[in-house]
Amino acid sequence: MLNQKKSLLHEHKLKLRWFTAISTIPLLAVVSAFGIIPQSEIPFDLNQKVVENLVLPTHAHDSVATGTFWRSERVQRGDTVDELLRRLNVDDPAASQYLRNAKNPDSLQHLPVGKNVQAETLADGSLVSLRYINSAGKQVITENRQGRFETREAELQSEKRILVRTGRISSTLFAATDQAGISDSAAVQLADIFSGDIDFHRDLRKGDHFSVIYEMNYSNGEPVSTGKILAAEFINQGHAYQALYFESSPGHGNYYSPDGHSMHKAFLRSPLEFTRVSSGFSLSRFHPILNKWRAHKGVDYAASIGTKVKATADGVVSFVGNMGGYGNVIMINHQSPYSTAYGHLSRFATGLHKGQRVQQGDIIGYVGQTGLATGPHLHYEFKINGVHHNPLNVALPDAKPINPAQKRQFLASTSALKEQLNLLDSKQLAAAN
Ligand SMILES: [Zn+2]
Repeated sequence: MLNQKKSLLHEHKLKLRWFTAISTIPLLAVVSAFGIIPQSEIPFDLNQKVVENLVLPTHAHDSVATGTFWRSERVQRGDTVDELLRRLNVDDPAASQYLRNAKNPDSLQHLPVGKNVQAETLADGSLVSLRYINSAGKQVITENRQGRFETREAELQSEKRILVRTGRISSTLFAATDQAGISDSAAVQLADIFSGDIDFHRDLRKGDHFSVIYEMNYSNGEPVSTGKILAAEFINQGHAYQALYFESSPGHGNYYSPDGHSMHKAFLRSPLEFTRVSSGFSLSRFHPILNKWRAHKGVDYAASIGTKVKATADGVVSFVGNMGGYGNVIMINHQSPYSTAYGHLSRFATGLHKGQRVQQGDIIGYVGQTGLATGPHLHYEFKINGVHHNPLNVALPDAKPINPAQKRQFLASTSALKEQLNLLDSKQLAAAN
């Protein structure tokens, strides 16, 4: 019990730090914070200690000013009103009594299992407001109005929340993002942002860890869609990469390292599309044929037939067709002196032809096992001046850094996010030790 109290205190402190940090981000006009810890559908673990949600209600008052805390819980089997309120951190006998005595069919005590209930409290646990969606799809709001509780119905409200999640790799990226409660869309974005630096099919190691700050769109407290990642950090094999979102013009944003270099590289680290299914093959990186790079001058990616293959950089197709041991192969000339090849494909993208201009990330074909292939895999070659190189070891050229005229604006608008990443990182380190 004592421990629990302590950890609650700790959480509150963390949230207060969040208020100060996040409120300095200029694009967020009205800021409120929801401490939604832990989410009841996710088992509690070390990661959850640092899981915090920040919420930006479009409708609500500014809880930075009022010093209130939001929590979210799902109704569980056998819950009583008191038990649910306890999990919501509500310590308010008058509120408990009011909510227990409410008799209508949509009252708190009649909510079905799985319903999401959110409570806003003061630091001492007294209830400011409570809300959930009733059977008619309306929001039910109970509020403390000068010491008296009142309940009213309101129309659905949508809001954008900023979620903060951290995770640690034990097998695949998706296993880690699942455990951290990160949506698939955010997981794919995360892999995409770092795709110029990390090959998520081959480079991941147990103990790699990450932090991600991203937008989630909510309707009445229920997540409905993932927005964009605002900032992320990935520590891969001891090397830390940070990415910050910055809009150089309205609606046109990119990811940059804290010193202003574009995260977008001239080449992707991996030619395979990263999905929940393809990521499962990351464990097969120790496939014996992978170690024979010198012998066959390429990198092999074990993947299921049909996995999408991407052009790793902008270029012009120099060959599409069948060629001996390569089977179905595509060759692309990129900016001089680079060229790439993709072999053993089951098929090509519709209409792909010699002389066609492709852009980085374009789907050009699909994994197969045509030609001399013992199993389904992609054979990928990377050449400089016609000489094979192991792309895993080559320092690849960067895309253009941030415009110097915008450097100051970039640093100012991303400093709070960067601060958060560093804070999350230090907390992760503390949790791991
Ligand atoms: Zn090969």
